[in-house]
Amino acid sequence: MKAVPDFWFEPAPWVDGKWRRGTEEISVPNPATNASLASVSRADAGLVAQAIEGAEKAWTDWRSRSPIERGVILKRTAALMIAKREDLAVLLSAEQGKPYAQGLGEVDYAASFFQWFGEEARRSYGRIAAHPEAEREFFVEHKAIGVAGLITPWNFPLAQGAKKIAAALAAGCTAVWKPAERTPLIALAMAPILEEAGLPQGVLQIVPGRGAVVGKIFAEHPAVRVLSLTGSTATGSALMADAARQIKRVSLELGGNAPFIVLPDADIEFTAEHVLRLKLFVSGQVCVTANRVFVHESIEREFLDILSQKLERAVVGNGLSDHVDAGPLIHRQACQDVDALVSQALTAGARLVCRNASFERDPSLKEGSFYPLTLLSDVQDSMHIASHEIFGPVIPVLRYKTVVEAIQRANETPYGLAGYVYGQDMTSCRAVARELEVGIVGVNEWRPLKAEIPFGGIKQSGIGAEGGEEGMREFLCTQVISMPKPTWER
Ligand code: ADP
Repeated sequence: MKAVPDFWFEPAPWVDGKWRRGTEEISVPNPATNASLASVSRADAGLVAQAIEGAEKAWTDWRSRSPIERGVILKRTAALMIAKREDLAVLLSAEQGKPYAQGLGEVDYAASFFQWFGEEARRSYGRIAAHPEAEREFFVEHKAIGVAGLITPWNFPLAQGAKKIAAALAAGCTAVWKPAERTPLIALAMAPILEEAGLPQGVLQIVPGRGAVVGKIFAEHPAVRVLSLTGSTATGSALMADAARQIKRVSLELGGNAPFIVLPDADIEFTAEHVLRLKLFVSGQVCVTANRVFVHESIEREFLDILSQKLERAVVGNGLSDHVDAGPLIHRQACQDVDALVSQALTAGARLVCRNASFERDPSLKEGSFYPLTLLSDVQDSMHIASHEIFGPVIPVLRYKTVVEAIQRANETPYGLAGYVYGQDMTSCRAVARELEVGIVGVNEWRPLKAEIPFGGIKQSGIGAEGGEEGMREFLCTQVISMPKPTWER
């Protein structure tokens, strides 16, 4: 069992390079045991406004620094995170619930965004464009937009922050980060790391607080020029409405309902292993996880047999214990929400193939918020479980007869975040992938997201992209200067 390290940070808002106090304290529990990890001070409205104004002040200096200098600080942050990866991973696991190994993976993934945007900082290109009048020319420049308000969820509390912070800071913006209510500790743990990397005071402020309250302040404060949220589609819609009043830019990574299409020629053993890994990942509390597994009728029986054997061997338990494959859900309410979807599906005719409640063997987890790994077959498109984001360790299998039918059903959703295609003929896989109305497709790959590529949803799954060269654009605005063209007298 891993022990939670002594905190190297204070459980309190970080504003202008100092630990501050709000007027409210909240307890942050470990979801595996419900034991309190810390009492965290929340930023009140006054402190959030102060954080925004401090970030606005810091912007003058930060935007005028060389992009290379900004990049060096970001790359140093990446290196410091890797040097501290074990402590960060334990903290992540304790606060979020995910297994320690997944915590390590998240730290590396988060650091890769600081590394990537540290490199990208120097690659902001403008252009000189032809002017219709011979004696003039246009200068087109992409400049930092201003203070960014960043709002992140609890499923990847470090990586979702890293994606936004690194891109915003590389672009020359300063930022105020509001982590999720359930996971403020890992965010606050970043403050001393950024400071050690050389980040000037006020360039990143960290304000734990309530989503709707801080979101409104971000939307109403004129210094905040862009709102970047990763969260549910309902929250994205609320934030967009708040942002409308001052016509603020929004960048939204929202919910999904990912189809996972298993083609008739798929390698069944390999595919079953990947579906399981995907659903064990943060116990299915991932916007890009498989929400509907479409399996061709000719292979369904064998697929269910192999998948259920694998599922029964998995270990669900405390993320800080050794050899755990999946941890708890974030809280008890999440378990009830997932159970409501499973119950509705079973009542409507789905079949329970198998369940794994191995966490029940450990009495220390009695107060934890665990949900059994669950495999369902005979799931229909009309069931709630197929139309709602499950956000839990449930694998719903939907049978199909023709690939055309599978594609059509896969696209019958207002979401368009991720999709997966598994098969052996790459031409067919690519053709099916191209038909899917989603932002990213993994072909025979369950974790396609990386810092090097833009990730963003279409339809109700979001606006904009994170990662890749596109990620920095969310924090840049374009200015054109029309200039007289200098000419040399002959
Ligand atoms: P989840 O359902 O996964 O908790 P949410 O969308 O509720 O997802 O939360 C994601 C982030 O959005 C959290 O940091 C939360 O505090 C914040 N949030 C929630 N409601 C609002 C809102 N109305 N405006 C801005 N941020 C919000």
